[in-house]
Amino acid sequence: MFIMKFGGSSVGTAESIVKVFDIVARQVNTKILVVLSALKGITDDIFALTLLAKQNELLQAQKRIDAIKDRHLEMIREAVIGADLQKQAEVEIEKLTNKLSQQARGISLLRELAPAVLDKCLSYGEKLSTTVFYFISRSRNLPCILFSAERVIKTDDVFGKGNPDYKSIRDNAQNELLPIFDNYDVIITQGFIGSTTQGKTTTLGRGGSDLSASLFGMALSADEIQIWTDVSGVLSTDPRLAPEAVTISSMSLSEIRELSFFGAKVLHPETIKPAMQDNIPIKVLNTFEPENCGTTIRQEKSEVEPNFHSVTAKNNILSINISLNSLSASNKQILDIFAIFERYGITALASSSSESSFTAFVEPLADREIALLREGLFGYDFAFDSGSLICLVGSRITESTALFDKFHSAVKHLPVKYILYGNSAESIFIFAGEEHSHSLQAALHNIIVA
Ligand code: ADP
Ligand code: ASP
Ligand code: MG
Repeated sequence: MFIMKFGGSSVGTAESIVKVFDIVARQVNTKILVVLSALKGITDDIFALTLLAKQNELLQAQKRIDAIKDRHLEMIREAVIGADLQKQAEVEIEKLTNKLSQQARGISLLRELAPAVLDKCLSYGEKLSTTVFYFISRSRNLPCILFSAERVIKTDDVFGKGNPDYKSIRDNAQNELLPIFDNYDVIITQGFIGSTTQGKTTTLGRGGSDLSASLFGMALSADEIQIWTDVSGVLSTDPRLAPEAVTISSMSLSEIRELSFFGAKVLHPETIKPAMQDNIPIKVLNTFEPENCGTTIRQEKSEVEPNFHSVTAKNNILSINISLNSLSASNKQILDIFAIFERYGITALASSSSESSFTAFVEPLADREIALLREGLFGYDFAFDSGSLICLVGSRITESTALFDKFHSAVKHLPVKYILYGNSAESIFIFAGEEHSHSLQAALHNIIVA
């Protein structure tokens, strides 16, 4: 069984959603769970209209809902074959957008946008796209069924970024979803959304459809999870920054974890966790170039030769350098520093320490958080700096002196402030002033593609 997830970039227009249909229909002799995101831009649109409703701009909010409805109706007219099914599809879209209008009215009335209500509203993006795709598929003679992801993807009640409950998800998938494959080869469901045990709609965080695909894959013990997007797999750098970026054909799960955590948008950072548990391979493929083999991500590392694969960066990072006191054990002080981070909800993206100092790199902090941190660190000598944290990802990097030489020659003339080398065999971190981020990324990308 395969999980085939198509992101918003694959279902943006009638032409591309028909390409998605062709890819799904081409699969034979295998059961498929199709996981779809909302049409490109729709989640942002819904987000914007809920804010308008909150500001009591109900008319404007309704205009946005009408535009969302029209976009889906137009797609139906272009891609669903046959007047009968077109009509049925239109009725379903009407029902869903009416429910969204109802929610908008509620928000406007209360002038309040509770996180649970926002999740409910956002869920219509994926409900709409899957409805359209279901009718497209039926009208093109593909026997399939539309299944509500909320029945399987159970989360806690952290609205906006629900934490998946693996056990319930596995149980529900086995009991409710798997038996449907006795009668259908293709099941269509929503990415991004789930529900609490009380049945309240939740979402998994922006870009969360990748995670949905991985959760379904884990719960159904799928043979493969396919993430279909608008580029040919995981690339050597963000193609928007460097069009010459190349596809990395094979990567380990730990590499992709570093890469997605460090901002490579191609995969949601949490995606690999469920797949990793069961060692399910993930493929990243291109909807607009389906014959391209894309990237295969596997658990095993030994198959992959030592090499650099990709570079990514996070800007606006804060470095915190703390001098450790010689009169007290450094272990104890580091423990104390992490306790302070924990207290203020600060996550260290990377850190390193020696007997006399400790440095951590963290996401940007609000002024209030900085003030609290300064207070917490009272008694320590510390300094803040800001810049970019660049992450060079590869396989078995530390095993090769040739790779070290290459890395060294790429950065030696550039104003690097900090290098974290050897922490993991899959990554090197470089901290530098934000103004040097591009030239550093370009120099590092050069050694990947050279
Ligand atoms: P989808 O709609 O399919 O979920 P996303 O927009 O979330 O697609 O992710 C795909 C995009 O990720 C690509 O279009 C590309 O611009 C961006 N991206 C950033 N870094 C990388 C990378 N290293 N490899 C591939 N794509 C990347
Ligand atoms: N539609 C959601 C978003 O735009 C989820 C996803 O696309 O993965 O964030
Ligand atoms: Mg995405």
